[in-house]
Amino acid sequence: MINMVFLGPPGAGKGTQSERIVNQYKIVQISTGDILRAAVREGTKLGKLAKQYMDEGKLVTDDIIIGIVRDRLAEPDCTDGFILDGFPRTIPQAEALEKMLSEDLDKEITHIVSLEVPDEFILERLTGRRSCKSCGRAYHVKYNPPKSDNCECGGEIIHRDDDREETINNRLEVYHNQTSTLKSFYEKSGNLYVLDGVGDPDAIFERVQDILTK
Ligand code: AMP
Repeated sequence: MINMVFLGPPGAGKGTQSERIVNQYKIVQISTGDILRAAVREGTKLGKLAKQYMDEGKLVTDDIIIGIVRDRLAEPDCTDGFILDGFPRTIPQAEALEKMLSEDLDKEITHIVSLEVPDEFILERLTGRRSCKSCGRAYHVKYNPPKSDNCECGGEIIHRDDDREETINNRLEVYHNQTSTLKSFYEKSGNLYVLDGVGDPDAIFERVQDILTK
């Protein structure tokens, strides 16, 4: 069973690696960023609320995000395993996750993988990143350009509003102030694996597989 938490700064490659993990291990990816972007697109109450935070590169409040994840993890397709991508991002979120898994869902986290990429790589990765509006798949103008105007799923390829330089700096600051502390939170669990996220995605996926077979 793989119930995984994927840590790492924006642009570390969590989405890219999650796609491979999903295909290989047939488990579901839960990306809180994707859920929020879908809500923004659909113009729901949640979307309207989240948009202001997202546009500024700030975190959406813990209570909103925790509620979303609680509902999502209770869905039947999570029974065979899941990857949490982009959650938790704060200590209260991590504490709420432990509580909901043990008290409500009778599950536990099996692997916490921290994908590490220094800041100097992030700006180039994110300013060049292009994303599918429908499936969230990531491309890069230089390193992984899309083969046509549209994504392989047929969706429109866009430059995310928050993948622009001003917002990226805020997102990195938020990461260093609020999210990077999660590593020490999980250190005591014995299930934390630190992984170098710089380099070829195929080579990184091999390292991910080594971890997931442990
Ligand atoms: P991501 O696609 O994971 O980079 O998330 C995009 C944006 O969605 C973030 O910059 C936050 O504004 C919001 N967001 C996603 N996940 C969370 C979370 N766990 N807690 C708070 N805000 C989040």
